[in-house]
Amino acid sequence: MPTRPAAHGTLYVVATPIGNLEDITLRAVRILGEVDLIAAEDTRHTKKLLSHLGIKTRLLSYYREKEMERGAEIVARLEAGENVALVSDAGTPGISDPGAVLVRLARQAGIPVVPLPGPSALTAALSAAGLEQPSFLFLGFLPPQKSQRQKLLRSLVSCEHPLVCYESPQRIQGLFADALDILGDRRALWARELSKTFEELQEAPLSELHALAAGRKNKGESVVVIHPGHASEPEGATVEELLLWYRDHSGLSLKDACRRLAADLGLSRSQVYQQALAIWDSRG
Ligand code: SAM
Repeated sequence: MPTRPAAHGTLYVVATPIGNLEDITLRAVRILGEVDLIAAEDTRHTKKLLSHLGIKTRLLSYYREKEMERGAEIVARLEAGENVALVSDAGTPGISDPGAVLVRLARQAGIPVVPLPGPSALTAALSAAGLEQPSFLFLGFLPPQKSQRQKLLRSLVSCEHPLVCYESPQRIQGLFADALDILGDRRALWARELSKTFEELQEAPLSELHALAAGRKNKGESVVVIHPGHASEPEGATVEELLLWYRDHSGLSLKDACRRLAADLGLSRSQVYQQALAIWDSRG
C-alpha cells in the first residue's frame, strides 16, 4: 500500500490592529494562540500584541528583505505539518506589507492558505470616505522620488475612480503639494492616525489639506482618498475658464474635453472646439 503523505499544515494570513489593540477578531486571537508558529514582520512589535493578548506562541521574523529565504523555510515547516500564522506590524499582511511571497510559495506547494479578515487602514479610511461610486484605485505608497511620484500622478489625471494611497508622516506634505499641482484642487479625505488617540479625518480641497499639514507638527500615519477630477471643475466658470481648467488639469485631449464640455453645457461642439483651439494653442 502506498504510504500517505503527511498532512500539510495551514498558512493563516491574520489581520492585526492598526492602532487600537481592541481591533482584533475573536478568530484571530484563537488562531494566534493555536498555531505552532507566528511569522511576523517585526517580532518585537508583535510580541507586544501577543503579551497584551496573553499568547505565548513562538515567533519567527519574516520581513521584506528576507521574504524568499524565510518563505522557503516556513513552507518547509508547513509541509512538515506545522500550522503557521502570518502577521505584519499593522493591518492586513500583503497590503503594502510583506506576505505575497510566502503566500505564493505556500500555494505552489499545495498548502492551504486561509485569510483571516480584519483591520486595514485602507478599508477603515474608505468606510468613512462616503464614496458613492463602487470603484476606487488603490496605489499603496506613491514613489518616494518626487519625479517618479509626479510622473505617476500625471498618468492618473483623467482616472475616473477615486485614488487611494498610503503616506508616511515625512512625505504627506509632498504628496499634497504634488497632487494639488498635477491633479488640481480636488476634494480629498485625509485620514490620519486611524483608531489611535489622535485620530483625525478631514475632508477638504487639496489646497486646504496642504496648508493643514504644514501646520501639523506630528502628521501621523495617513491614508489619502482623492476624489476624481470632475468633482473640482470650477463652479460658475466661463467656457474659457473651463477650457483652461480642462487643458491643465483633466488630462483629456482637446477633442475629448470639447465633447464633454459641449455635452455638459448644452453647446454645439464646433463652437466649443473653436474656442478650445485658441486656448490649447496659447500654451506655446
Ligand atoms: N498592511 C497595512 C494595512 O492593511 O493597512 C498597511 C501597512 S503600510 C506598511 C503602513 C501604512 O498604512 C502607513 O504608512 C499609513 O499610510 C497606513 N496606516 C497604517 N496604520 C494607519 C493608521 N492607524 N491610520 C492611518 N493610516 C495608517
